[in-house]
Amino acid sequence: MLDLNFTGLIPSNMEKRGELTLKDNLAIIEEIFNQRKIPKEGLDDDKIKLLLKILSLMDTDKDPKVIQIGEREARIASKIQNELVGGFCHGIGRSGNLIDAQPKAPGASIMYALTNKILESFLKNLGLKVNAIATPVATGMSLALCLSAARKKYHSNVVIYPYASHKSPIKATSFIGMRMRLVETKLYGDAVRVDVSDIEDAIKKEIKENNNPCVLSTLTFFPPRESDDIVEISKICEEFSIPHIINGAYAIQNNFYIDKLKKAFKHRVDAVVSSSDKNLFTPIGGGIIYSRDREFLREVSLCYPGRACATPVVNILVSLLSLGMNKYLDLMKKQKESKKLLDDLLNELAKKKEEKVLNVKNPISSCITTKKDPVDVAAKLYNLRITGPRGIRKNDKFGTCYLGEYPYDYIVVNSAIGVKNEDIMQVVEKLEKVL
Ligand SMILES: *Cc1c(COP(=O)(O)O)cnc(C)c1O
Repeated sequence: MLDLNFTGLIPSNMEKRGELTLKDNLAIIEEIFNQRKIPKEGLDDDKIKLLLKILSLMDTDKDPKVIQIGEREARIASKIQNELVGGFCHGIGRSGNLIDAQPKAPGASIMYALTNKILESFLKNLGLKVNAIATPVATGMSLALCLSAARKKYHSNVVIYPYASHKSPIKATSFIGMRMRLVETKLYGDAVRVDVSDIEDAIKKEIKENNNPCVLSTLTFFPPRESDDIVEISKICEEFSIPHIINGAYAIQNNFYIDKLKKAFKHRVDAVVSSSDKNLFTPIGGGIIYSRDREFLREVSLCYPGRACATPVVNILVSLLSLGMNKYLDLMKKQKESKKLLDDLLNELAKKKEEKVLNVKNPISSCITTKKDPVDVAAKLYNLRITGPRGIRKNDKFGTCYLGEYPYDYIVVNSAIGVKNEDIMQVVEKLEKVL
């Protein structure tokens, strides 16, 4: 396709040398299109930009001879906007289906299909043999798409929600107009959990009332709320033949969660939602939905109303190409080490201050109790230019996910993927001053 005539401009031995370099540079991009997998080593920014440029030059708004008389022709006011969308001004999808190819945007359509393939290979490398789609909306809205698909495909009319106090899933349910049946948490030592048999009871009650329940479970959450037992829930959903959606907002950065997902996928899991920013280092605004059930993913994609901005998907592609598999695995390893460091430092601090580190299973976050007002402690940390910690009072039913009074006031500190060890050391140092 690229037929570049350099002949006669420079000495031919130099021309051959130059062509060799060009060929090897372009081979990196050819390899991506041939393999359609996440590269082991990440690509440099220039290659990624070139790849995006090649694709975006396939869209009709870049056609030098195009005659445009539609009401939607990707007309833009400034070239800045073209840059902001990675060159894909026509966006992605057709009004009827998010993952359908868009006639005005062959390049963007290839970009989206390629992103989904690379995403699948990434998840496969992590041990998850699933179909996947990148979504142009964040976790909450992606959950809404999944619930909408469950309603369409299985006539679900009520969402059984083992209570986890995040507003996104709760609003996702009200957004699509479904009723939510909460299943309350209980206290098990320091940990707050939902009993699986209570979930089963809720399912039975809804079925008895001639309703069609689906379950929205939570895999990743702030301690002291522990993960739902998604393996047992997926068995129950299999038994009762009801859809099961999992909120795995930051699940793909740690094997603790991935192993649970692997086991749950052997039973009934219709879709898992994860955030692109929490797991894949993109700006906020995208999600990923994955499932063994390709048909369900198609239904999800059919539920999306209209075309979408390409940016969140481009961001996912850029992250996957830029990091490469090896870097991601390395970051996962570092995350685990950082969590260990965090726990060691918090345990030392707890001893000094006669506090305790809460005994809650969580591979990302830890809690330390405080005798001071935790909200005040968190505010002080914020003013010390620390972002992330949450201060929760024991009577804060939303914060603790627990309707009774929780035994302690506490501070939550996270060591999510990408955290720096020096930041962990600094936050515990500052915590020592304000606790
Ligand atoms: C981060 C997070 C969400 C976020 O939803 P967004 O729509 O991406 O803001 C939802 N649920 C849980 C458990 C989360 O941790």
